[in-house]
Amino acid sequence: MEVGGHSDRIMPTYEFRCKACGAEFTKILTMAERSAGDISCPKCESMEVDQVFSGISVKTDKKTW
Ligand SMILES: [Zn+2]
Repeated sequence: MEVGGHSDRIMPTYEFRCKACGAEFTKILTMAERSAGDISCPKCESMEVDQVFSGISVKTDKKTW
């Protein structure tokens, strides 16, 4: 079932930073993958990663800072 006529495929990307090696990386996660929390660093494969909340591109007219 389609909702509306404007079907952009929004890819939710999430930024992470590895606690082990400090690498920052972006992943495209589905809701299921995200809730599973099964995220590992592409560099060192550590599961010790922090999600980085920065620059979430929400369309807005006002500046937040
Ligand atoms: Zn790492």
